[in-house]
Amino acid sequence: MHLNKIDPEVSQALNRELAREQEGLEMIPSENFVSEAVLEALGSIGTNKYSEGYPGARYYGGCEWVDVIENLARDRAKALFGVNHANVQPASGCAANIATMFALLEPGDTLMGMNLFFGGHMTHGLPVNFSGRYYKSVQYTSAPDGTMDFEAMLSLALEHKPKLVIVGATAYPRIIDWQKARGVADAVGAFLLADVSHVAGLIVSGDHPSPAGIADVITTTTHKTLRGPRGAMILCNGNPSTPLKKVDVSRENIPTLIDRAIIPGLQGGPHNHQTAAIAVALKEAAQPDFKEYGHQIVKNAKALASVLVRQGFELVTGGTDNHLMVVNLTNKNVSGKQAERALSLAGITVNKNTVPFEPRTPFDPSGIRLGTPALTTRGMHEAEMETIGSWIDEAITHASDETKLASIKMSVKEMTDRFPLYPNLTY
Ligand SMILES: *Cc1c(COP(=O)(O)O)cnc(C)c1O
Repeated sequence: MHLNKIDPEVSQALNRELAREQEGLEMIPSENFVSEAVLEALGSIGTNKYSEGYPGARYYGGCEWVDVIENLARDRAKALFGVNHANVQPASGCAANIATMFALLEPGDTLMGMNLFFGGHMTHGLPVNFSGRYYKSVQYTSAPDGTMDFEAMLSLALEHKPKLVIVGATAYPRIIDWQKARGVADAVGAFLLADVSHVAGLIVSGDHPSPAGIADVITTTTHKTLRGPRGAMILCNGNPSTPLKKVDVSRENIPTLIDRAIIPGLQGGPHNHQTAAIAVALKEAAQPDFKEYGHQIVKNAKALASVLVRQGFELVTGGTDNHLMVVNLTNKNVSGKQAERALSLAGITVNKNTVPFEPRTPFDPSGIRLGTPALTTRGMHEAEMETIGSWIDEAITHASDETKLASIKMSVKEMTDRFPLYPNLTY
């Protein structure tokens, strides 16, 4: 180990972060803990190599081994999600979505996505995001009960004729019906982008339907329920073209358009260490125990939701079918920000979140978002969810009682001690 000798400040901050991850209850639904094998690949010498381009077609010499790594990642992604083309180079989910727009749209074209305040992502057309500024963005909202409203989407689509329809969410607790999304896109001849960043792991485990074969493009992060390193993939079907040949914007050319959008369109050298770690995570996700993992995420979320409902919490859509829930705290007389702070003092990490038809502001919204992927990775089950649900209730009920919150934090530490994370790691 060299880090603590060369840079004690970074070493100390990493050790403190490690302790924070070990001692707390990580309930931000977009977070997870990677395996030691993934960490090892991510911290590897892959970072040293420039390899602009794709396997077999690079702009740099010496790429024979990074070609092997990228091909492993691509082939595993294709097999796992049932598509015939995978680009594993986007640095993150935002980059994957921007690349998809860059591939399929011209500046000023119309796209349609879910409003951020209703559970959509900022790259789905938020006015201050690239997607809302360089394209004409039409935003759909959910039905009054918080569920996706495909009829409203259809009438908006018929009115505005988007060229790209984006379906997928960052704070949506129910199953997404991809066929209905396809119907909306088809009604106006639009491309359909399914952004499965949050539910990718549940798609692999069979706990959420897959948009493969339905959507034209699938984007996903690799670091959420999929439990890989921070990164993203773009998945599609079609015929990759030979380099340099001019191609038009059509369905069968999507693989070529996507690959060219990533490089030379938007990115330079691929992060080979990240690609190696994605390959490892995809191998892990293809094992039978990953299916169990996905099933348990959902069982844990349902168990937690039912504890909270019993204690009088109001959940958006009334519950959950996936890995997360959005709690509307209006009837509890605390804001999302106050709840986030109280829970943090109690050792429980969540994030404040808007609720559909939010009456407050995004900086201090009415709700919080809770998820079970990271807790499930640690090996927790329904019994722990019962206890955690009652701590969440206590912490929110006594949001300004610092003594109470500190005592919950001690109980949290006792529980997390029983679920060790990276026992041999130190920086
Ligand atoms: C997380 C997320 C993204 C963005 O991923 P980053 O890696 O944070 O850039 C995009 N879309 C959806 C739906 C997400 O949940």
